Amino acid sequence: MTTIGFIGLGVMGAPMAANLVDAGFDVIGYNRSPGKSRVLAEKGGRTTGSVAEAVAGADVVITMLPDSPDVEAVVLGDGGVLDNARPGTLLIDASTIRPQISRAVAAAAAERGVRALDAPVSGGEAGAIEGTLSIMVGGDAGDFTAAAEVFDAVGSTIVHVGPAGAGQTVKAANQLIVAGHLELLAEALVFLDAHGVDLSSAITVLGGGLAGSNVLARKAPGMLARHFEPGFRVDLHHKDLGIVVDSARAAGVAIPLGAHVADLLTSLRAQGAGSLDHSTLLLQVEQLSGKHTGLSTAERAPR
Ligand code: NAD
Repeated sequence: MTTIGFIGLGVMGAPMAANLVDAGFDVIGYNRSPGKSRVLAEKGGRTTGSVAEAVAGADVVITMLPDSPDVEAVVLGDGGVLDNARPGTLLIDASTIRPQISRAVAAAAAERGVRALDAPVSGGEAGAIEGTLSIMVGGDAGDFTAAAEVFDAVGSTIVHVGPAGAGQTVKAANQLIVAGHLELLAEALVFLDAHGVDLSSAITVLGGGLAGSNVLARKAPGMLARHFEPGFRVDLHHKDLGIVVDSARAAGVAIPLGAHVADLLTSLRAQGAGSLDHSTLLLQVEQLSGKHTGLSTAERAPR
């Protein structure tokens, strides 16, 4: 049986690890705050108190961590994944991080005989629970093929997009599209509401036309119900648009709308909404439109 060390059991990692257990893998999970390991334990997975123990006997190691510095610390740091992995281990980083960090991880892994793939995902918490994530994979084509059974357990659209770092570049484009789309959805809802249109009916018919999308289908119901607990934190989308803006600048590409939404997310964070779902963009549009609702109605995140 393939043993998978799974590090980072948060909103996305916990259901992904649970789906790997369901698919018959021997999963041993580690999370920095131990309470997050409960979901995996209830599913019949093993849990442990250190990176070393999660990695030592693993054939495959998956990391699902918030940001680039977290991956650098856990994978490259003293006592981290590379210090404990056996040669030949397959390291799959599913976190969304900077492409250049994925390339550095792949190079450091290769020096230790560890095969590394960057495999960021899209589909949100619902896609992680359903096992229907879209997975964009960078790295060696042979390693991608070797990971097929693992990817199949957590995703349904799984594509090798190029060498190390390429998965992260595609994920950055994904986050650009989602952010712009979510902001326009928020603006449309405030616009419709101001005209007295029934929002639920409007969403139904918009969903059947060219404006229909996964963003609309997955995010509009929560916005209408005014549920802003994450899901996908504003902090994480702000991180992702930092990657997008920097990468676009490095390539000499203008992304005027993307840069604007990046600013709107920066503002949301500055107003204390960093730990709320990114659909909180709705409250910002309400605030900008002088509505009496707006951000003051959301539970503020601790700073
Ligand atoms: P999260 O904050 O819920 O989970 C991250 C987990 O990693 C937390 O449980 C945290 O305790 C743990 N962690 C942090 N540092 C650690 C360390 N040093 N050792 C062990 N555990 C550590 O975040 P998430 O929403 O699950 O997102 C994870 C990654 O996936 C991010 O890069 C995010 O951008 C990306 N992503 C998230 C979503 C989403 O909808 N939430 C969708 C696609 C991609």
